[in-house]
Amino acid sequence: DQLTSQQAIDLENKYGAHNYHPLPVVLSRGEGVYVWDVEGKKYYDFLSAYSAVNQGHCHPKIVDAMTAQAKTLSLTSRAFYNDMLGKYEKYASEYFNFDKLLPMNTGAEAVETALKICRKWAYEVKGIAENEAQIVVCENNFHGRTTTIISFSNDSVARKNFGPYTAGFIKIEYDNLKALEDVLESNTNIAGFLVEPIQGEAGVYVPSEGYLAKAKALCVKHNVLFIADEVQTGIARTGRLLATCGNCDCIDKNCSGTPEVKADILILGKALSGGAYPVSAVLANDPIMNVIGPGNHGSTFGGNPIAAAVAMAALEVVRDEDLAENAFQLGELFRSELNTYIETSPIVNLVRGKGLLNAIVINDDEDSDTAWNICMALKENGLLAKPTHGNIIRFAPPLVMTKAQLLDCVSIIVKTLKQFEA
Ligand code: PMP
Repeated sequence: DQLTSQQAIDLENKYGAHNYHPLPVVLSRGEGVYVWDVEGKKYYDFLSAYSAVNQGHCHPKIVDAMTAQAKTLSLTSRAFYNDMLGKYEKYASEYFNFDKLLPMNTGAEAVETALKICRKWAYEVKGIAENEAQIVVCENNFHGRTTTIISFSNDSVARKNFGPYTAGFIKIEYDNLKALEDVLESNTNIAGFLVEPIQGEAGVYVPSEGYLAKAKALCVKHNVLFIADEVQTGIARTGRLLATCGNCDCIDKNCSGTPEVKADILILGKALSGGAYPVSAVLANDPIMNVIGPGNHGSTFGGNPIAAAVAMAALEVVRDEDLAENAFQLGELFRSELNTYIETSPIVNLVRGKGLLNAIVINDDEDSDTAWNICMALKENGLLAKPTHGNIIRFAPPLVMTKAQLLDCVSIIVKTLKQFEA
């Protein structure tokens, strides 16, 4: 029997751990840019499961690939070879222009994997003394929620009372090249620099033009691995195939990074599967990836045939439908339309972002309820979004949106914001 929204919420609250604070809407169907709640109300999805559903909900090509594979072979573990994994690894490695791919399931797992590869490379290739390797990370980062990853988080809620923490991380200010240069010059045991090309959870914080390329150059100079966490920014979200390519001169939206900005270790997740299935990956070239041997790392589900089939289809959709170009065009339109409203708005200070990863900053405190209340009103008006902070709302719709749909969404957003002007 179909539950009512309230029944579904009550069940989750009674039997589920309270590790999230969801908007009170219960979804039961999705198609393209739309989702429906159990009462049949239709919404624009302006979160895309935190940028996972870039290809749109239930994309037929991805669903077909998944169901066909599910009927044939779903899981062997890596105890044996399977006939899908190698095909997918070749396809994705060529797609992103790396020698090799290591398959994982979630974003956090892929980040952990990258950290392990980086450390092992530091000892076996760079020659850092055992247990001395340090990895530079940024203030206000978000890379996931494992015990190691929260060890270098600034988020007190994510971190408090989960210690002891993993050592070996040095935190510097994001978007500050001098801080990076200082830390690299004053330490000989730095193995890597882990960075989000745009800080998503921090409120869609876009670094200065040229930051990534210059940070990469500093890493090259000091023989330090430039590790890009593109779990949220990758797969066309920011109007480029990868956001690490967003600061270079190249005009190819499907470029995977000119040498000036290309990551030494690339971390992907979320939209790698179009949100259909948990699939993440770490990509690197042989001199780095070859430090990993049998037994060093693994996962029962990582690289399973369904994941491989789904990810291949999801990547094909990005190219076939030119989603990077669409995200680029619609992103420009979105910000320019919202800027027109912001010029005279008493409540919104600015819109920022790249492609279809954007946020508005509301003229209120970081711990106010305003962003939440606006999201509740947006929900009433048929659009689902979620705050990153009390005064920041992220807007990240599926990239398969049309121009007409985007303009419709802008009018919903502006109408809703006007309700809060009084
Ligand atoms: N890295 C970044 C940049 C992310 O935005 C996220 C998720 N928001 C993660 C890692 C973690 O991914 P997952 O939730 O799949 O573990």
